[in-house]
Amino acid sequence: MIQEQLKQVQGRMEAACKASAREPKDVALIAVSKTKPLEDLEEAYRLGVRDFGENKVQELVDKAEKMPADVRWHMIGHLQRNKVKYIVDKVFLIHSVDSFRLAEEISKEAGKHGTTADILIEVNVAGEESKFGVRPDEAEALIRQIATLPAVRVKGLMTIAPYVENAEDNRKYFAQLKQLSVDIADKNIDNVSMKILSMGMTGDYQVAIEEGATMVRVGTGIFGERTKSVSQ
Ligand SMILES: *Cc1c(COP(=O)(O)O)cnc(C)c1O
Repeated sequence: MIQEQLKQVQGRMEAACKASAREPKDVALIAVSKTKPLEDLEEAYRLGVRDFGENKVQELVDKAEKMPADVRWHMIGHLQRNKVKYIVDKVFLIHSVDSFRLAEEISKEAGKHGTTADILIEVNVAGEESKFGVRPDEAEALIRQIATLPAVRVKGLMTIAPYVENAEDNRKYFAQLKQLSVDIADKNIDNVSMKILSMGMTGDYQVAIEEGATMVRVGTGIFGERTKSVSQ
């Protein structure tokens, strides 16, 4: 089942690229494997998937221990400062940074490991009360502050769009995040890149790609429904 679903997602990603005159190689698929058993990740790995997204520190660490070393782990969930130390040397990219204090902790821990950590700034474009992320009008100031830290690098922006029946309803939010990234890129802030735009999930990744996503985070569309709603 994972094989067929993965093929379907990849096919739809290609179609969305075609529809918007983009190159498929410019859009990465993050397979969101949260709550799913190791066998599912292993199957996806055998099918060529190397980018996996998790939203819980413990689960990411457990799975990283058991999966091959060339997997790129993406932390996509809310991250508490006291847990940064467990993942900083294991993750390829942290998508969910929305405060200076968190970035400072990531820089401190990355420094201890002699590395720099790549991060995205999570923006709450739709202004949903329940969501983490900075307001769009706060993003630039936060990025300027984070840019002074020695061992983190801002690589772009991420958003979690609202849950909607019709993906078209989220098009405006994806367009807003893209515009924000262009505006910030124009400021040429030292040590800051706006190359990555992480947006789009199972319900709306095609629309996100049409609006400029360079990473889409797809869980259900590849692995099927999650049974544990606690880990959303
Ligand atoms: C769970 C999750 C996803 C994937 O959601 P699906 O609708 O299953 O594709 C993407 N991004 C984040 C931040 C998530 O927590």
